[in-house]
Formats: sequence, structure tokens, C-alpha cells
Amino acid sequence: MPRKLNILIASSEAVPFIKTGGLADVVGALPKELEKLGHNVKIVLPRYYGIDANKWNLQNVGGPLGVNMGSLGELWCGAKTCKLPNTNIDVYFIDYENYFGRKGPYSGSDGEGYGDNYARFAFFSKACLDLCKMINFRPDVAHVNDWHTSPIATMLNSTHRYDDFFKDTASLLTIHNMQHQGSFYLGDYPYFLGTEYDSNVNMLRDGIYNANIINTVSNGYADEIKTQEYACGLEKAINDRSGDLYGIVNGIDYSIWNPEIDKKICANYNIYDLSGKESCKRDLQRTFGLPERADVPVVAIVSRLAKQKGVDVVAEAIYRLVNYDMQLVILGEGEIWTHFFFPNIAVKHPHKVACHIGYNESLAHKIEAGADFFLMPSRFEPCGLNQLYSLSYGTLPIVRATGGLNDTVDNYDEQTGEGNGFKFGDLTADAIYNTVGWAMYTYYNRKDHLYKLIKNAMGKRFTWQRSALKYEEMYYKAVEKRVGAEQYKIILEG
Ligand code: ADP
Repeated sequence: MPRKLNILIASSEAVPFIKTGGLADVVGALPKELEKLGHNVKIVLPRYYGIDANKWNLQNVGGPLGVNMGSLGELWCGAKTCKLPNTNIDVYFIDYENYFGRKGPYSGSDGEGYGDNYARFAFFSKACLDLCKMINFRPDVAHVNDWHTSPIATMLNSTHRYDDFFKDTASLLTIHNMQHQGSFYLGDYPYFLGTEYDSNVNMLRDGIYNANIINTVSNGYADEIKTQEYACGLEKAINDRSGDLYGIVNGIDYSIWNPEIDKKICANYNIYDLSGKESCKRDLQRTFGLPERADVPVVAIVSRLAKQKGVDVVAEAIYRLVNYDMQLVILGEGEIWTHFFFPNIAVKHPHKVACHIGYNESLAHKIEAGADFFLMPSRFEPCGLNQLYSLSYGTLPIVRATGGLNDTVDNYDEQTGEGNGFKFGDLTADAIYNTVGWAMYTYYNRKDHLYKLIKNAMGKRFTWQRSALKYEEMYYKAVEKRVGAEQYKIILEG
């Protein structure tokens, strides 16, 4: 039985405190399973001012923390703490108003990233390590996520390599999205975090080169990012480290996304009795002002309305999609043009299309439960959560076969009725139109297969328990790489 580990999880977001995407879901859920496996986990987040000190009962920790930022000088910050709800896991918040006293984690209301993001997250990364010393928590592994906390892996392998406190601290870098890299012109700060840069820094690339082990959130995406098409310029770094690159698909939280117990939906149902799903469909149609018809299929989209999600191609296909006898429900927010385009289509086709612009968890649950199909035509998809929720609710995913979507959705086989969704390859308006058409045909003409697909979908489980075991394996691998085989043996026995 290997020794249990001290695990530091550093992230720019985590459920339930602050969320913009799937990264937050992972950091909110994985630690709970690691705790069950007996590990000692501590999470560190920036304290954005949207995180309410009263609501979470944040307590101050220690004295002020002086973070040495190279040529930016020493910056003094505070630290606060609370427990991750329903666990005994400590969550720490780095409190520094100049950098985090803003509403959004990465960008202001104009959607543009803050100009000082590199300094904000370099500072945060450094503060995470300084905090460990302050609270005397010596991590066996620092689990860092995306570019924001990649500098931790870089520092552990450079400035902190022979620091007595961190000399045995391994690092695992999880890439949730390759598109954002923390790439900045650093001409003004040639000396930063004790590392010399000539002109540019790419925090993610540095993290890839310095982390002991790297993983992405699906096997498919781990393969894709070795290619120019998906690597967003980092294919060389990824290929240089491909021997240490793994894929671990995300789990979902079945205490939240489960039609059997979900309180946000109007009727509960399960794989043996789907009658509640019919009520949910009616409720969804009513909520969105669509005709309450049980016989017409509802296709749904819940998404960031961004190019990554292929919504520009949906916009191209939508003029033809409205020709099918189906209803289309869209929930999302994102690129400004979508906030006009989709509501406008809904006004033109009030019996067929309904749209809600905004971020709304309750509506997301109602949609997952009430829809028949879920459309997710992503350009790239590191893992994707919505298709997993859809499977859990028996809402058949129609997806582009990429990354995590390809790994988690099994294409319908017309001969046998096996599968749990519908897949297509090229991201074109034709492919979306035809594949939705295939799903419509199945809905109207192959009810026997339709029920089989729904049951297959609901029977498939993506638990965090399973993913956590894989992360645990990665942690041990990382530790072995950091300390060497000899010492690893001693640690295991310790
Ligand atoms: P990404 O992280 O790329 O945005 P994922 O599918 O991995 O995509 O995760 C998206 C998460 O955000 C899911 O939990 C999804 O339900 C949620 N979500 C996205 N847009 C909305 C919205 N408008 N309202 C409610 N939830 C949303």
C-alpha cells in the first residue's frame, strides 16, 4: 500500500466558488475523491472579489505574505481559508486586491483579457508556493492547471529545484484547453520570478517542458494536440514531452447531474421509468414558450457561444434546420454577435426556435432533462461536460467526433441499435444538417432503436471515482520522476 500523498491543487477557478468552464468542475470534484482515497489535499485559488467572505465564512491565515516578483519587487498579500463544502479539505485564497479585486477571473466586461494577466497569475503561482511554506504544507505533488498555474511547475524545476522545502515536490500539469497559453511580451520585465526571459514568455509552454507529468482531459485530445491543427503552436513542446503525456477523461458529479434526484427539474426519472422525462419536456417547452408537443423532438444547445463550440457553423446551418419538424432550444452566452443572431432567429421562427442568452444553471438542468437531443459540434473539445450530462439524462448527444466528444459518445449503429449518440466528422453546415436529420429520422421512424440508445446513454457512467484513481497513478508517476527510483521506494514504504 503506497504512502498517502500531500497534494497541492492550484487553480484559477473551482466550483462552487468561481466558475467559467470545465476547469472549475474538475477542481471542485476531483479533491473529494482523492480525500476518499486517503490523500491530504489542499486547494489554492485567487480570492476574486466575487467570492463572498461571509457566504463562505473565510478566515484569515497567518500574517501577510511577501511575494518576491523579481523586477516588480516584493508584493504583500493576505491569505484566507475555508473548507470545501461537505469535505474536510482546506481551500486557500490568495487575497491581493490590485490583481484580484475584479469581478471576472480573466477579463473585464468587454471580454478582453486583462492586460496584466501574466503578472496576476505569475504572482498567484509564486504565492501558492510561498503559502505552502507559511502553513508548513510540504506537497509531494503540485497539481497545476492550464497556463495560469503552470509557472509552479516551472519554478519547481528551476528556481525551487534545490529549495530544501520543495526539493521532493513533483508536478503534474493538466491541460484543460490548449488555446489559452499565457503568452506575453515581457520586454519590460527581463527578470521575473527569478527566471530570465529575453522578450516573450509562454507560461503553458514552460509548464509543458518543466512538469514531471502532463495530462489532458481525454485520450483523444492528448493525441490531437500532437498535431499542428490542434496544438495552437505548441506541437513541438507537446511532441518533445509525448512520453510523459496522458489522457484522463473527466468525471461528472452524479449528486448534481442525475435525473433520479435532480431538484431543479419538474419530475424525476430513471432508466427504468422515463415518464418523468415527458413531463420535463413539457415543462421545458412551456418555459421557453414553445408549443407543448410531446410528439416533436427537441434539440438543445447549452454552451459558451464561442467559435470553439462551432456555434458559427450552427448559425450557418440553422436556416435549414428550421425545415425539420423539430424544436431547437439554445442557452448560452459568449461572442456578442450570437446575442443578436440567435434571438433574432427565434423571433422569426417562434414555434421552432427559442433562445435564452445568459448563464443559468437551473435552465441548464431543465434543458438536459427535457430535450431529446443535445447538439455539440465543437471545433475542438478537450473533454466536454455537457455531452456527459446529456448521456446521464438520456438526451442523445449529436456531436462532432473530436477530442473528448469522440471518446465518450458511441455512434449509433443502425444495424444493431447499439450506441448512445450521433457523430459526424467535418465541421460543416452540411454535416450538422445531415446528422441532425439522421437523428430526426431515427426519432420518427426507429422508436425501438431510440429507446435502446436512451437506455445505453443512461447506463453509461463517467464517475470521478474512476478518474481519481487515474490521477492518483499520475501523481505517483510524477513523484517517482522527481525523486528518482531509489528514493521513491523509500517514500512508498514511508
Ligand atoms: P467549456 O469548459 O469549454 O465551457 P464544458 O462542456 O467542458 O465546456 O463545460 C461547460 C460547463 O458550463 C458545463 O457545466 C455547462 O453546463 C456549463 N454552461 C455553459 N454555458 C452555460 C449557460 N449558458 N448556462 C448554464 N450553464 C452553462
